[in-house]
Amino acid sequence: MTVTELVSYEDALASYDPVMGLEVHVELGTRTKMFCGCSTSLGADPNTQTCPVCLGLPGSLPVVNATAVESAVRIGLALNCEIAQWCRFARKNYFYPDMPKNFQISQYDEPIAFDGYLDVQLEDGEVFRVGIERAHMEEDTGKSTHIGGATGRIHGAVHSLLDYNRAGIPLIEIVTKPITGAGERAPEVAKAYVAELRELIRALGVSEARMEMGQMRCDVNLSLRPHGTETFGTRSETKNVNSLRSVERATRFEIQRHAAVLGSGGTIVQETRHFHEDDGSTTSGRVKEEAEDYRYFPEPDLVPVAPAREWVEGLRAGLPELPRLRRNRLREEWGISEHEMQSVLNAGAIDLITATIDAGAPADQARKWWMGELARRANEQGTELSALPITPDRVARVCELVADGSLNDKLARQVIEGVLAGEGGPDEVVDKRGLKVVSDTGALSAAVDEAIAANGAIAEKIRGGKVAAAGALVGAVMKATRGQADAARVRELILEKLGVQG
Ligand code: ADP
Ligand code: MG
Ligand code: ZN
Repeated sequence: MTVTELVSYEDALASYDPVMGLEVHVELGTRTKMFCGCSTSLGADPNTQTCPVCLGLPGSLPVVNATAVESAVRIGLALNCEIAQWCRFARKNYFYPDMPKNFQISQYDEPIAFDGYLDVQLEDGEVFRVGIERAHMEEDTGKSTHIGGATGRIHGAVHSLLDYNRAGIPLIEIVTKPITGAGERAPEVAKAYVAELRELIRALGVSEARMEMGQMRCDVNLSLRPHGTETFGTRSETKNVNSLRSVERATRFEIQRHAAVLGSGGTIVQETRHFHEDDGSTTSGRVKEEAEDYRYFPEPDLVPVAPAREWVEGLRAGLPELPRLRRNRLREEWGISEHEMQSVLNAGAIDLITATIDAGAPADQARKWWMGELARRANEQGTELSALPITPDRVARVCELVADGSLNDKLARQVIEGVLAGEGGPDEVVDKRGLKVVSDTGALSAAVDEAIAANGAIAEKIRGGKVAAAGALVGAVMKATRGQADAARVRELILEKLGVQG
C-alpha cells in the first residue's frame, strides 16, 4: 500500500471547492427476488435460494416483481422525483463470477424515477437541499468469499466460494446530482444525506436499510475545483462505504488527497477506490469503465414498465410523513431543543418514546425514562435501547404508577429493574417485590415518631419555626422505609406531630 501524502483539511478548503456525488444502493425488503420467485431471506445455506432465472440458465425468463416496482415508485415520490410514464430495463454487460448471467438487469437511460431532491437537516438545524438525479431498479449480484489470502480480497486467494442466494435481490440505486456549495461542510452534508435517506427508506417500510448488513451501501464520488472556477475536476469514486461515519471520513480523506495531488501539479485519475475502516484512508481500485464498455441495450425479455397515473397518485397520497418533518413536529410537541432531539435520535429512541406517549404517558416522562434510566441500562449492557426487554406499554404503565402516586422515582427504577429481569409487567413486579409507596398514616406514624425521637435537635428547630429543617427528618424516614414512604405525606405528619403549620 503506497502511503498517500495529504494536505490539511483547512489548506485543502482554502484552495479548492469540493463537488460530491453520492450513489446509494438499497436492498429492498421484498419477500422474493426481482425477477423470480426465490426467497430473499437471510441466513440460508449457500445456493439454496436459487432457480434457473437467477442462475441465468439458458431458456429461463425473468418476470418483474410488482412489489419492488411499487417500492421504487414510492421511494421516487418521497424524493420529489418525476415518475416515468414508461420505462424499460437494460442489460449491463460485464463478466464477474458473482453474476451468473454475465449481465446485470438494470436501468440505463430510462430510470423509473428522476429529477427530485431531498432536504437534509444539518446538526445546527440548517437545511441543505440535495438534488436527486435518478432512482432506478436493478438486481444484486451473488456473494464471493475469497479463501487463502490475508486480506480477504481476491489477490493472493487460493480459491473462491460463490453464493448466489443474493443474486437477483431487488436493489434501488439512488444517484444525486453533483452536490456543490457545501464547502467545508461537504463531509457533514454527505453523512447527513445518507442518514436522512436511511430514515426515509425505513419510514417507507421498503427496507430495514441496515448499513452494517450491506442492506444499504454508498459510493462516494468526489472532485475538487479551484475556487472561482465552474468546471468540475476529475472525480474518484470510493465504493461500498458501509456506515454513516465512514461516509464522512471517506469524503474528508478524498478532499485532502485530491488537494495534495492537485497542489503538487499531479492529475487525478478517474478510478474506483476502496475505503479502509482502520485508518480512514482510501486506496486505488480499478480504472473506471465508461458506460460504453457495458454495451447497455434494452432488456428484450421484459416488457416495459408503464405505471398508471392513478396508481402513482394513490401511492403519493399514501406516503408517510417525511422523517425530517416528523422530527421537527415531535420536537415542538415535546417542547425540546434541537440538541435534545439530536440526543434522542442518536439513542435510537424516537419511536420508543412516541409509542410510550401513544400508550398514555406524558411526553416529558416518556423521554425521561427512555433517555435516563433505560439508556443507562442499555449502555451498561452494551445493547440498543430497542433491544431491552421492556415495551413502551410497560414504560407507560410505570409513568402512570408514578403519576398516581403509587410509585416514586426510586421505586419506579426498581420496578423497571424487575421488568428487565423478566419478573413480569410493572404491576406484577410491584406485587412480587412489594414496591408500593406507603402513604397510610398508621403505617408511617411509628417511623415518623422514631425519626423525631432520634433527631431531637432538629425537631426542636422545627418546633421553633424552622420548617425547612423538616427535609432532614423526611430523609430519615425515607431511609428507614427503604424509599417506600410517600415523602409528601411524611412531611405533613412530621409538621402535624411537631405542632407547626406547613
Ligand atoms: P457512474 O455509474 O459512472 O458512477 P453515475 O452517473 O451513476 O456514474 O454517478 C456519478 C455520481 O457522481 C453522480 O452522483 C454524479 O452527480 C456525480 N458526479 C459526476 N461528475 C462528478 C464530478 N466531476 N465530481 C463529483 N461528482 C460527480
Ligand atoms: Mg458509480
Ligand atoms: Zn431465482
